Amino acid sequence: MLIAIVEDELKLSAALESYLSKDDFDTTLYNEGNAALEGLINAPPDLVLLDLMLPGLDGLSICKEFRKHSTVPVIMLTARVEEIDRLLGLEIGADDYICKPYSPREVVARVKAVLRRTSVSSEDSGNQRLVLDESVARVLVDGNVCILTAVELRLLKAMMERPGQIFNRSQLMRRIYTDDRIVSERTIDSHIKKLRQKLSAVCATDEFIHSVYGIGYKYEVPV
Ligand code: CA
Repeated sequence: MLIAIVEDELKLSAALESYLSKDDFDTTLYNEGNAALEGLINAPPDLVLLDLMLPGLDGLSICKEFRKHSTVPVIMLTARVEEIDRLLGLEIGADDYICKPYSPREVVARVKAVLRRTSVSSEDSGNQRLVLDESVARVLVDGNVCILTAVELRLLKAMMERPGQIFNRSQLMRRIYTDDRIVSERTIDSHIKKLRQKLSAVCATDEFIHSVYGIGYKYEVPV
């Protein structure tokens, strides 16, 4: 597992590197924002530890831009607790937040927890009820073929990568459109509605996409 550490304070990044390597993680280090974004996109790690305040591009902009290219988990490192509330409100797509000062041990524990949480879908792909076949834009539901549009495919993929996680409409919007176009939230609702209709046409008994009142949607396979 490769962990990218984006941190300009060398003392901190060295401590993280040493603790992560004790747990058999490989690490790659960036201490400047623009180089970090370029590196993360060109050589994606398995997880990113991302400091907020950086020379060059800041952590916030890096996370937003990186999210257009990748669903690799991102843990933000930030100096103040109050900052976390603000970041959550901005919906930058981070998977977790750690407040500075932190103990490197705590960071390693959080890295493992986030990796466990986010790798569930790929580990279980052998016995999943829904199997995405991106090359031909279709999903198999219990082996039954369901043909999707490109947008429906991206929507479903984004949610399937994080089972149980609630996505709001703007998060989903960012996943399905690679440009910065503005579409109304109703557009997402109508894509979701069609996606659900298609899924229920091949499996009438179970719902895989669930509405969460006032927030958005989540993917969850009924047990
Ligand atoms: Ca910093």
